Amino acid sequence: MGLVAGALTISPLVSATTLKDGDSKKNNVLRVAHITDIHIRPEHDAPNRFEKCLADIKKHNVDFFLNGGDVIYAANYKNIARDRVHEQWNIWKDLRSKFSEYEMYCCLGNHDMWWAAPEKTDPMYGKEYVVQQLEMPATYYSFDKEGWHFIILDSMNDKTIALGEAQRNWLAEDLEKLPAGSSIVIMSHCPILSASGVFKNGNHKDYEEITKLLYKHKDKKINCFSGHIHLLDAAVYNNVNYFVTGAVSGAWWEEGDEHSAQKYWYRETPPGYAIIDLFDDGTLENTYYPHPY
Ligand SMILES: [Zn+2]
Repeated sequence: MGLVAGALTISPLVSATTLKDGDSKKNNVLRVAHITDIHIRPEHDAPNRFEKCLADIKKHNVDFFLNGGDVIYAANYKNIARDRVHEQWNIWKDLRSKFSEYEMYCCLGNHDMWWAAPEKTDPMYGKEYVVQQLEMPATYYSFDKEGWHFIILDSMNDKTIALGEAQRNWLAEDLEKLPAGSSIVIMSHCPILSASGVFKNGNHKDYEEITKLLYKHKDKKINCFSGHIHLLDAAVYNNVNYFVTGAVSGAWWEEGDEHSAQKYWYRETPPGYAIIDLFDDGTLENTYYPHPY
């Protein structure tokens, strides 16, 4: 099946010190789809192409979805009118109804917010409207499943790519509550750290504060997932894994440009999604599946 052929597999990056005797008996407790940068839009037949991709994802029998933001093509530019914002979210709602049997946990993307609303009191202005569209409990939050702790962050603060002081304090408290050895997935729209972030200057500007905070929790197994760059990579720093998961939309559903290695790709990364297998010993396997649509 074309689905698996050509899949780029990223080996789990786990330090040998975290491996225990009997590790081969580890159990796969969760399978999660990480979809990001869907950038849904009426053009380029994007809704139908996304639906085909969704059918492929469903074949993996995932437990739930992590959605990394930039769900719609763009609401953030100055010239975007209300109708255009409505149009994009309506397409999304229709598509979401086609996999409503799955739970989905979202974070905000930089393109999701409509800052050009005529008034800040407009019900469609800013983050709160997106929180409603994506049925998020808040702009940042955490939850637990099958022994894993998931932290969903908001990358858009202080008019840049940053957590901001309030969220950073919340993150510090959230991590503090967890016992040593905890298995953690952190999802943000923009990478906290990444190699591909240099292409768009797209990494978190407060990476120094965040990496210092994570280093204080080096007794825990921390894995960070992001999107935003539309490129696929993996990095490890201070024993924390930093994965960037390409983009469902590839080159925004367009054919690409002179940098695209193939049609619809963004540079060397095909459109695709990640399937993450999480194990009860705190390890994970992260596999990127290109989709051909
Ligand atoms: Zn983005």
